[in-house]
This record gives sequence, structure tokens and C-alpha cells, in this order.
Amino acid sequence: MTVTSQLNRRGLLTGTAAVIGAAALPAAARATAPLSGTQAPGFYRIKLGAYEVTILNDGARTFPLPDTFVSNASKDQALRAAADAFMPDGKITVPFNPTLINTGSKLVLIDTGNGPSPDGAVGRLFANLAAAGVKPEQIDLVVISHMHPDHINGLRTAAGKIAFPHAQIIAPEPEWAFWMNDENMAKASDTMTRNYFANTRKILTGLEDRIVRYAWGKEVAPGITAIATPGHTPGHTSFTVVSGNSQMMVQSDVTNIPELFLRNPDWHVAYDHDPALAQQTRHEFYDMASVEKMLIAGYHFPFPSAGYVEKTATGYRLVPVQWSAVL
Ligand SMILES: [Zn+2]
Repeated sequence: MTVTSQLNRRGLLTGTAAVIGAAALPAAARATAPLSGTQAPGFYRIKLGAYEVTILNDGARTFPLPDTFVSNASKDQALRAAADAFMPDGKITVPFNPTLINTGSKLVLIDTGNGPSPDGAVGRLFANLAAAGVKPEQIDLVVISHMHPDHINGLRTAAGKIAFPHAQIIAPEPEWAFWMNDENMAKASDTMTRNYFANTRKILTGLEDRIVRYAWGKEVAPGITAIATPGHTPGHTSFTVVSGNSQMMVQSDVTNIPELFLRNPDWHVAYDHDPALAQQTRHEFYDMASVEKMLIAGYHFPFPSAGYVEKTATGYRLVPVQWSAVL
């Protein structure tokens, strides 16, 4: 049988090739091993100048594509984009990836993931932090990019305690001003926004004095500067991280999943507070990043959620980093 004759749909589906292969193996090579049934730890390190950046996976959620997930494109168009990215039929997968930066003198965590979750699909940050050899008590500074649940809920343990007991916690001033304002909360007209407001009260009440607010343009830690990228939320913030001659950007949610929204940068994800401003921010951000060939960590990029963005005829394309076995 030639190789080509095996590469047809019927041959692959009936497993003919596999059976022939197995029969050819010596008996010793067929010893069984138990299936592990669990995924490998999700953390990935990048050397950035004198800094070490560790992307920590908080898990992912796969769910049926909501009718208005893309608010300015048809559901059919969105489903086609999801299918083109080989997402499960009729569904989308949204991953979550906080970033830890070790500056040599400080451990800085940007965003905290979804927090404890009974089903284990998300809330993986703490297991992956442990796998990376870091205890929550060691974190010096927690930097919040914006106050959506998937970014702030990891601030608290299942028992409601602060998950990072020794850390200073900081949040963007305009973000705090918007979400913690009761008049804004009373004005919220849709269920999603009302839920967001309720969640900020659940997580942040009692922390008013503890959480320090930072301004855009300020260095929040040595080499880490807050950059205004509003639209997704009023105070949505990204970060530049610079060490020596090396730099990268932690974009937070400038775009949601790249398979839909980098390819179609004018599509509005349902979670955007000011979709037109988010669209403008997206173009400015990726035009700059593509020209500068900037390494980007994207919270909702597929793990290890770092890569480069290239401009295409119709939008942008993510070029993921190559796995590196050495730092
Ligand atoms: Zn998010």
C-alpha cells in the first residue's frame, strides 16, 4: 500500500493505518499505561531583558455562541468565523491568561482570573501558580486592568478571603470611578452591565481603602507602565513592560478572542462598553504593535497567549510565539 492510498477519508476513519502499525510492533512495545485524564500545568515563561514573564492559564470556557456575541455582525457570520477557527460546532472557546512579572525585586501579577470555580474549567490560576513554584503570599503587587469578573474575581478565595494576602492591589482610577459609582449602577439598563456592577460590589466591597488607584501613563512598578486603551470598559488599561532593550505589551482585552476579533477588528464583542471607542483603540493599538513588531500577551489569546500581530488585507493575524525550552 502506498502512503497516498492510506490518506483518504475512509482509510483514516476506519483506522486501517493504525491497526497495521500496531500489528508491526514487538510485544513489549504494546504494554499499557493508565490514561492520565488531566491536562498538563499551564504556565509559560518568557525572558524579557532582566525580567521573567510567566503567563499563567486560568482555564477556558466553551459555550454555545450567543446570538449577539458579535453585536454588529450576523450570528451566521460569527458562527462561520468560529468554524473557520475549528471551534466546536456552534460554540466558541474563550481562554483566560493572567500575566506574572518577576522584576528581580518584585512579583507583579496582572489580573487574577475568574476565581474559584466548582467545575474546574476556570479558576486554574492558583494551581498553575503553584506549578510555577509561586505561592500567592509571595505576590507583591496585583495590578487590575479592568473590573470585569474574569479579571477581578480571583482576588478572593472560595471563603471570601483576599487570595494575595501580602500584595498591594491597584486598579485604574477611571475604571474605579465608573464601576464604583452608585449613580452609574442605577442607570445600568441591560442585564449584563447590571451583573458587572453587582459583581464589582461582591468582590470589591470592603477593599475600598486597600485598593490604590493608578493613573494612565504612570509606571505602576519598575518598567511596567499603564497605557490608556479605553472602550472595552471606561478605564480599560494595557501595559508596556520594559527591561533593558527588551519590551512587550500586556494588552488585556483590547480584543477578545483573536480568531474572531483580530481577523475582524471592526466587529464589536458583546462585552464592549463603548464599542466604537473599543474599535478605534483596537486599530491604533494593533497598527502600532504590527509596525513595531511588538510582542503581545493577550488575556484571551490561546495559551501561551503571547505572539506578534501582523496586518492583513482585511484585519490582523496573530503569529503565536514559538515554544522555547530555554530562557
Ligand atoms: Zn476579559
